[in-house]
Amino acid sequence: MIGAPLYLHASLFMILPLYALAFTYISYDIAGFPIGFAKAELPFIEKLLLGAVLAIFLYIAILIHEAGHAWAAKYKGYHVKGITLFFVGGISEMEHPRDWPKGEADVASSGIIWSVGLGAVLLSVYFLTETLYKGWTGIAASIFLSGFGLFNLFLGLMNALPILPMDGGVLLRDLLRAEIGLARSSALTVLVSRAGSMIIIVAGIYFINWILVLVGLLLLATISPRQLES
Ligand SMILES: [Zn+2]
Repeated sequence: MIGAPLYLHASLFMILPLYALAFTYISYDIAGFPIGFAKAELPFIEKLLLGAVLAIFLYIAILIHEAGHAWAAKYKGYHVKGITLFFVGGISEMEHPRDWPKGEADVASSGIIWSVGLGAVLLSVYFLTETLYKGWTGIAASIFLSGFGLFNLFLGLMNALPILPMDGGVLLRDLLRAEIGLARSSALTVLVSRAGSMIIIVAGIYFINWILVLVGLLLLATISPRQLES
């Protein structure tokens, strides 16, 4: 459908075992939607196996999000060079044509819509069929449905934050550009992005969530006025 090559960054393979262990050893309940296998009454080796598969599903959710961008780009006639998955997310690389700023917002919003849409569908199915799951296969299936739904929804909402280089930042800049022009919209979006990254870092320290701190630092390091002109 997209026909672009998929690249897997080495960092992905370093973090996957950690996620597999995390999903083996934790059981969260987020607003009634379960994730993780710690509470499942299963032998450890089965929990580990299921945790590993759930970790792979996290990256499938990221791939679907990037496919949303790539599909919109292709639909608009842009050339998609490839999709790369790395440990904190994915990147769709595309050639930027002359009228790119016009298409950029559509490409950004497509990723958000795909993730939030799929997440909402999966969680609705879980919500409606919750009582039907019986036995360990049922429990495993329900946690996959709920967990995969949460991954997609979380990814969509996270990317909608108005922080560059995330999709929400691109959309904010696009929205402001029509009102105050390119230079001022870029400057203002950088300001909002830096403030947002700082909030993520502080929240990460407060909740002792080092992945959040790392994401905040990476975002802060990626925001540069030069990158904004691309
Ligand atoms: Zn995105």
